[in-house]
Amino acid sequence: MAEVQPWGGRRAQKVTAEFRAECEAANTRCWLCSQPIDYTVHRPNPDAFELDHFYPRSEFPDLTWEPSNFRASHASCNHARGKRDHPAAIGPTTIDW
Ligand SMILES: [Zn+2]
Repeated sequence: MAEVQPWGGRRAQKVTAEFRAECEAANTRCWLCSQPIDYTVHRPNPDAFELDHFYPRSEFPDLTWEPSNFRASHASCNHARGKRDHPAAIGPTTIDW
C-alpha cells in the first residue's frame, strides 16, 4: 500500500487555492451551516473560506487528496466541528419526544 502524503505544505496550498477558486466561481455555500461564504475575506477571519474534508483525514488518510472529499466551509464552522465525526454520522435522534 502506497504511503499517502500528509496534508500540508505547498501541495495543500495549491489544492486549497484551486478548490477555493472553484467554490468562489460557483458561490458554494458552507456545507456545515448552509450559509453563504464571503470569498473576499481571508483567514484569520472566522468567516473566511476553508477547505474541509468530508471524511476526516485522521480516519480516512486515503481520501486526503481526493477532490470529491473536499467541502467548502467557514473557518469558524470547520473549527467548531473539530475532530468530531461529520454531522451526518451523528444521525437522527432516537429519542421520541
Ligand atoms: Zn458555516
